Amino acid sequence: MNNYGRFPLTLVRGNGCRVEDDQGRSYLDFVAGIAVNTLGHAHPRLSKAICQQAQTMLHCSNLYHIPQQQRLAARLAQLSGLERAFFCNSGAEANEAAIKLARKFFYDQQPDTPRHTIITATRSFHGRTLTTVAATGQEKVKTGFAPLPQGFVHVPLNDIDALTEAVDATTAAILLEPLQGEGGVNPAEPDYLRAVRALCDQRGLLLMLDEVQTGIGRTGTMFAFEQAGIVPDVLTLAKGLGGGVAIGAMLAREEVAASFAPGSHGSTFGGNPLACCAANCVLDVIEAEGLLANCMEMGNKLRDGLQHLARLGSAKGQTMAVRGSGLLLGLDCGQPVMELIDDCRQRGLLLLAAGSNVLRLLPPLIVADHEIEEALDTITAALMHRGWI
Ligand code: PLP
Repeated sequence: MNNYGRFPLTLVRGNGCRVEDDQGRSYLDFVAGIAVNTLGHAHPRLSKAICQQAQTMLHCSNLYHIPQQQRLAARLAQLSGLERAFFCNSGAEANEAAIKLARKFFYDQQPDTPRHTIITATRSFHGRTLTTVAATGQEKVKTGFAPLPQGFVHVPLNDIDALTEAVDATTAAILLEPLQGEGGVNPAEPDYLRAVRALCDQRGLLLMLDEVQTGIGRTGTMFAFEQAGIVPDVLTLAKGLGGGVAIGAMLAREEVAASFAPGSHGSTFGGNPLACCAANCVLDVIEAEGLLANCMEMGNKLRDGLQHLARLGSAKGQTMAVRGSGLLLGLDCGQPVMELIDDCRQRGLLLLAAGSNVLRLLPPLIVADHEIEEALDTITAALMHRGWI
């Protein structure tokens, strides 16, 4: 169906941070499957683990215990501080599960008049199913799909007064991305996140963080929430977790997770041996190759380079700004960036946009020094060509 705007490019293989098209042309990949290819392309350990798992067992259903799933759940619990895990296949499904869990949690407390409203941020992005579209704070994704599920309210990010005012007797949870990806690479300030945590504690609300894009090392820590020194009640993951194999997860505190009983929720493919084996391997390699430290270091280098470009732009009268952390960075160019992205692609660098004006950079976490330099050189050339710097 015609539901994707595609670049005029056919990608056939990849290795590390590079991909190759059907004409044999090589590109530096700073899209990484939109924050999915954590370990780059064709990582030998991941390829081997997947092949071995395929020869052992691909699928058996959640009717049975699955050792790869148990191992992954225990590791994610240990890493996040949230004791329980539900596995699914995508970010939208993880958020659907979180929304269902929040509603069931309050239903169990007060079945006659359960709290059910979920507050999210304007410019947020939570997925493409009807309920996650309702949760998303962007009109453009909702248009044409009414009636949407009810019970979502949007408030501006980083405005604790607006959030506090939006809480009423029906409020169940606050759902936020610690760093908005799709919406323009907009960070939630650490002070704001701490104030949201305190508000949730005072009012008995659930704090649910959508780390579908930011989780699994993308911002330089395993989860972005660590940088604010808080822990959510519910956390959603997907994208980078499987390094390219579809998997989503919804983690929750024991007390909250207790609201799901057999039959409350489920997924045929969720947590299958193949996907969980891939995710376990991604966690192994992040640790073995020191990818959190690499993400911080390479992220700082990329950020410094982009900030330099933004300063050159300002000197030329452009309004340019750099946002984001780790290897989820945005260069806000103050004007549409699609042609700039096309130009970079023709010069051998794959990038994507966040909204219309922001260039988004999401290289694999294995990215090396010389690849950051190559990307910055290409962006510099493309910006100069347009006369923006
Ligand atoms: N949540 C966030 C923060 C996302 O960035 C995305 C995808 O871009 C989603 C949810 C939806 O994930 P998926 O496309 O896997 O359903």
